[in-house]
Amino acid sequence: MQKTIKDLIDISQYAGSRADYTQGGGGNTSVKNNDNGTMLIKASGYRLVDINETTAFVAVDKNKIYNYYNSVDLSVEKDYEKESAEVSKSSVVPLQGIQTLRPSVEVGFHAILKKYVIHTHSVYANILTCSQEGEALAEKLFKDKDFGFIFLPYINPGFELTLAMKNKIDCYVKETGKYPEVIFMKNHGLVVTGDYIDRVKAVNTDVNETIRNYFGLGDDFRSVTLVATETGFKSETKIVTDFVKNNVLDKAVLDETPLYPDQLVYLNNILAHSPNTMVVKDGTVYYNTDIKQATTLEETLAAYLFVVTTVKNANLTVSTMNEKEVYFINNWEAEKYRRSVK
Ligand SMILES: [Zn+2]
Repeated sequence: MQKTIKDLIDISQYAGSRADYTQGGGGNTSVKNNDNGTMLIKASGYRLVDINETTAFVAVDKNKIYNYYNSVDLSVEKDYEKESAEVSKSSVVPLQGIQTLRPSVEVGFHAILKKYVIHTHSVYANILTCSQEGEALAEKLFKDKDFGFIFLPYINPGFELTLAMKNKIDCYVKETGKYPEVIFMKNHGLVVTGDYIDRVKAVNTDVNETIRNYFGLGDDFRSVTLVATETGFKSETKIVTDFVKNNVLDKAVLDETPLYPDQLVYLNNILAHSPNTMVVKDGTVYYNTDIKQATTLEETLAAYLFVVTTVKNANLTVSTMNEKEVYFINNWEAEKYRRSVK
């Protein structure tokens, strides 16, 4: 078990310590222990970098979730979202000396993938997943790489996404005889999976660097800069300050272009519940809240602006979530829980 925890901390630090890979409590990682059938996965609402030997992760019975998705009978009329959430919940295995937390909302797809899973909301991957031309571009950039990839359309997270991912992987394996190590998820993010920890990290880096180089982007978006004020913090992150100098930024602007679920969970919905948390005044963004929430808001905002600006500058067409998809996220119990974890 110790080795599994060590590996989980390793990939979580790798993916979680950069704001261009993950923002706020977004993204998640997991490692399976194939000897005893458990899987360690990030706990819902926590940041990847919070994971250490005793906190911010949870153990689940991987086979219980895996078997559910492999045998679920779709011919019956019932609430599969609820049923699968119950399976995830009941699969939690308490560990001695470690607080039992709720697994990531994305535990379902982690269970069906390979030993190591790194799932990020990388701004580079999301340039592709949030543009209409993204899938064709992925084909062009990655067709000659030594790893296979699939590109999933937008699917509501939870039960539907896990099942769609499983089906697409099964088809890919049947067609090509190999397992796709990379999964792009439309208006969502990136998954890299495999049986070797170094390989998974290397492939993840390769995907991101290939896209970054293709668009000629700098390597300066690794963290955000916040400066303390009397009532909280103000933004000094270049992507954000450059944008507000020349453009209007308010909730209406953010609502007009819903790119992916985390923008709604960590930005739009926070502003809907407490509008004074983020205020734009005289070309500066102010956050009237504690450092933890200010960081989450700033990282989410900077990532959003980075993706939108890059897509537009490259003369691509921004692709957004539709009304129904936005409604699902705003009313999904799992997301309400995630937003509430402070
Ligand atoms: Zn995600």
